Amino acid sequence: MNCRHCGTALDLQLVDLGSAPPSNRYLDQKTIHEPESWLPLRVLVCEHCWLVQTEDFTRPELLFTSDYAYYSSTSRTWLNHAKHYAVDIIDRLHLTKESFVVEIASNDGYLLKNFVSAKIPCLGIEPAEQAALAAERLGIPMRRDFFGEQCGQRLAAQGLQADLVAANNVYAHVPDINDFTRGIKALLKPRGTVTLEFPHLLKLVEHCQFDTIYHEHFSYLSLRVVQRIFAVAGLRVFDVQLLPTHGGSLRVYGCHQEDSRFEEPSVAHVLRSEAAAGLEAREVYLSFQERTHHIKNDLLLFLLQQKRLGKKLAAYGAAAKGNTLLNFAGVRPDLLPFVCDAAPSKQGKYLPGSRIPIVSPETLKTQRLDYLLILPWNISQEIVEQNKLLEENDTQFVVAVPQLRML
Ligand SMILES: [Zn+2]
Repeated sequence: MNCRHCGTALDLQLVDLGSAPPSNRYLDQKTIHEPESWLPLRVLVCEHCWLVQTEDFTRPELLFTSDYAYYSSTSRTWLNHAKHYAVDIIDRLHLTKESFVVEIASNDGYLLKNFVSAKIPCLGIEPAEQAALAAERLGIPMRRDFFGEQCGQRLAAQGLQADLVAANNVYAHVPDINDFTRGIKALLKPRGTVTLEFPHLLKLVEHCQFDTIYHEHFSYLSLRVVQRIFAVAGLRVFDVQLLPTHGGSLRVYGCHQEDSRFEEPSVAHVLRSEAAAGLEAREVYLSFQERTHHIKNDLLLFLLQQKRLGKKLAAYGAAAKGNTLLNFAGVRPDLLPFVCDAAPSKQGKYLPGSRIPIVSPETLKTQRLDYLLILPWNISQEIVEQNKLLEENDTQFVVAVPQLRML
């Protein structure tokens, strides 16, 4: 395979997680009786431009089907994050009724609804039908489309260039990152701003967050690599913020190459931390595989020991990262009989691969557990707070990444 950004042949491997079904391909009462496609799950590193990337096996239209079950609005932490972003960016860019905001992969309108209530004209782009319908019910104009250069040019030709392009938490999920970036270039007004958010490669490597790896997550990005990709498309980064989301993300602010805005000192600061961590040398990537085995073995040992002792366990949060962990570790319903999730769209379904049934968190009121394994460790605090009653029943909360620990 060649690098998706620069075309160089890829020889350096970060990790081989065996094979797994696409992590958002939940099974229902009918498909549970059918076979699943298990695809190899490997991450490779380009030693020329240092883009860390998932090996190609499937087409995006196979991954993001119309019943794609992810709804942003089910996490309160996430809704608050989106609201704060909207308040900050409206203030920072002085957005008004005359402005125009486009969000790429706007999901169920979790973010744009804040612009609608501020009376700032906006448009959402979203290929998943159910999510787009949910956004329309909130009064958000929608286009059902996969974003890329063609889509960006089409919108520009229709006079729909944007003062703000929000592409928060989509950039890492784009297979053709060059085409997507050219689309942003086309969509931005001359003085427009783009913001991207993505999990920071530095945190993935530092904390061995291998469960954030799945087929739909194509790129694992550093600021330095985003600068390179931007430069080729005629864009540049002028500011960056560190965010706690997804275990440590970057929010990047970009503009046209020729825009006169100064580059903030934050950019050089993050670049220095990436260089100090050795993200552009092969050594840092060589020990990653061994570290993932360590985490997997600790989890399995814990589950097997507790089962022997007759303890009752279940999981919380039917998130993509849980699927990577459970499928890599080979965990099945005999060790974790069910997983609770607050999203009604997932309840009654089964996790891909492990085939663990997904139930409503209400189940926890009727079944006493000794341990509850929280799969989306990035929102573990929220889950612990929502389930305070369990602590009174002596249920222990557990996370497995970056190491097994009781909360
Ligand atoms: Zn490359």
